[in-house]
Amino acid sequence: MTAPGAAPVLTVRGLTKTYGAGATAVDAVRDVDLDVRAGEVLLVMGPSGSGKTTLLLMLGALLRPTAGSITVTGHDGSGIDVAAAPEKQLPALRAATFGFIFQDYALLDALTATENIAVAANLAGTTGPAAHRRALELLERVGLMHRASARPSRLSGGEQQRVAVARALANDPPVLLADEPTANLDASRGRDLARLLRTLADDDGRSVVIVSHDDRLREVADRVLWLEDGAFRQLATMATDPVCRMQVEPTGPHATWRGEQWWFCSDACRREFLARPEQFALGRAGP
Ligand code: ADP
Ligand code: MG
Repeated sequence: MTAPGAAPVLTVRGLTKTYGAGATAVDAVRDVDLDVRAGEVLLVMGPSGSGKTTLLLMLGALLRPTAGSITVTGHDGSGIDVAAAPEKQLPALRAATFGFIFQDYALLDALTATENIAVAANLAGTTGPAAHRRALELLERVGLMHRASARPSRLSGGEQQRVAVARALANDPPVLLADEPTANLDASRGRDLARLLRTLADDDGRSVVIVSHDDRLREVADRVLWLEDGAFRQLATMATDPVCRMQVEPTGPHATWRGEQWWFCSDACRREFLARPEQFALGRAGP
């Protein structure tokens, strides 16, 4: 469940990526601002080539931005700018902060499901029998205990993606980043995967950022942003969510109260508003 007032886990400002230089330069991401909060499922949609993968790779410190900042806020409230951090610090930063889920699962076929996850636990500093135990725990969490000793090539696409989700959890990251996670899954497996990601946000308070052009993911998202040509599409009129005061596009959750239309960043804010509308609605008219 999104905590509307929660401090952002990721704060992105002026994020830009230009590939190449001179006449052939491509501005893949242009001057993007974004806040991601704990427990939030954020879906970034956009056509092929709009910059989704580039944006996600920069968020996860796998790709260096051309300009801008990405501040990761730790449990203690301290912030570190991933965009400016020295290369040497990036592996530790990734291990402490991010779990990655890719379209093609990216599992190692020489290893069993358990071993794929245990290797990730090793990289995060858990070794020996503890890594094995952690791997089994995570397989249980994604409902795949019975496939623990299978190699990826013996698993269905849906099962492989579940193993990949378990692997992404090996370092217990506050932020999960998923690039087209349902692209190779059929309708029902895609929906299962979407719900699993939702659960990881709800139960663990993780932030989940998904980039995709898969419309099925909308049902689990708290927020949907549209990327076009490297920038979030600006709608002419933005509304202010009366609960969390965030600027929101007038396209998502809404409610009518005393003849006025109100827009929200999430169903959580909408519910909070409807429980005590006068408190929030009258708050708007204040000084
Ligand atoms: P999406 O994930 O939305 O399909 P990408 O982030 O992959 O978009 O690509 C955005 C733009 O950047 C596209 O025009 C693409 O051709 C270009 N691009 C992506 N990666 C590279 C690269 N490594 N070198 C040059 N151009 C790239
Ligand atoms: Mg892509």
